[in-house]
Amino acid sequence: MDFSTSKRIVEEGSQFVAGGVNSNFRYGAPPNPLVFAKAQGSHLVDVDGNDFIDYYLGMGAMLLGHSPTSVIAAAKNQLDVSVLVAGQTPLEYQAAQKLTELVPSAQLVRFASSGTEAIHAAFRIARATTKRMKIIKFEGHYHGWTDNALLSVAPDLEQAGGAEHPNAVMGSEGQEKSEEIIVLRWNDIEPLEKILRTHEIAAVITEPIMFNSGGILPNSGYLEQMRELCRQTGTFLIFDEVITGFRVAAGGAQTALGIAPDLSIFGKALANGFPVAAVAGRRELFDLVVSGKVLHGGTYNSQSVSIAATLATLSEIQTGEPHRKITDLHEHLVTGLKQACEKSKLIYEIVGFPAVFQLRFGLRGPTDYRSSLGADRAKYMRFTSELLQRGIRVLPRGTWFLSSAHTHEDIDKTLREASTVLASL
Ligand code: PLP
Repeated sequence: MDFSTSKRIVEEGSQFVAGGVNSNFRYGAPPNPLVFAKAQGSHLVDVDGNDFIDYYLGMGAMLLGHSPTSVIAAAKNQLDVSVLVAGQTPLEYQAAQKLTELVPSAQLVRFASSGTEAIHAAFRIARATTKRMKIIKFEGHYHGWTDNALLSVAPDLEQAGGAEHPNAVMGSEGQEKSEEIIVLRWNDIEPLEKILRTHEIAAVITEPIMFNSGGILPNSGYLEQMRELCRQTGTFLIFDEVITGFRVAAGGAQTALGIAPDLSIFGKALANGFPVAAVAGRRELFDLVVSGKVLHGGTYNSQSVSIAATLATLSEIQTGEPHRKITDLHEHLVTGLKQACEKSKLIYEIVGFPAVFQLRFGLRGPTDYRSSLGADRAKYMRFTSELLQRGIRVLPRGTWFLSSAHTHEDIDKTLREASTVLASL
């Protein structure tokens, strides 16, 4: 495949956009960052005319695919009504109500424009309510790029210290040093219990399923124990469901796992690609927001067009049809991937759920960030580069996102190409 037009546009555009990309996470994609001309259903077409079956799905946002009729129609209709009113529109209450219908732990909602901002709001609510400052996060988990949260996401092991008491490793130059974040190993209840019982902690934040580093499920009983310890110590339990929300199940990972956090963060699939996120949780936890003592703002919060898309997306998810379709497609895809891996005599593992799962090579059963580093990432990178050349776009980190717009023909083609590539690795 030829990617030269993308390369030229990014190079020329670098005169105006720093580094040619508007998110650092887009630098890395080999052979060079791509420029897309069109996104439709499960397909992307780039400016060189290459057609891809897309398993990035806007980093997981497009649960219903790139152009779901009902969502696009709702957004188009809203464009004729209002875009931004610096006030309220009726739809935002309906969208919030819909969210509470889908997610049992959510009684009240505040909308934001990105997951990063909603997490920032959750930290503030937890700190103000508990009158404590310290927050526990886990190594390998990503909670946005604020100074407060960008710690030990993918730390260099030379800086990361011992596994029992990891250092909080900053993720960026220019970042303000936060003394208030404690980093712990995930899936290990002992250090968590010790800290919760001996320190005043405002909140524990976790991805309920660890999809930012390796696709790792919680050990049996781990999140239940975390829930109980937080309850006993008056600590907020915050589930960051930016990836898992509406994907792992219509009600998020928390309904699939049967655990109710105090606060939850949603983004990505919440509005199928429109910039909407939310912090949601039990009613009384928002008292300080309601009284105005905790400030949460944002010019673009509940922007009308995005909220129309949110309501349409959640309504579609509520029918159950997208998840039924994705479950069927996933069965086809994963059965075929397993057969192809086995035929090629690869050590591999597939972990996850129909709408989001992880494929890794060379390692089975990691339980945390450090053990996930044992996967054969170089081989996986070759796999994704080869697939891209064949019109299949999957994330180099091993996460696959599936949408209800994928078809069995897409899966057939993916499996044909994946089998050929796997046999050659
Ligand atoms: N939390 C998780 C688990 C994420 O994966 C992400 C983004 O990928 C975020 C938070 C940040 O969300 P946003 O990029 O919308 O700020």
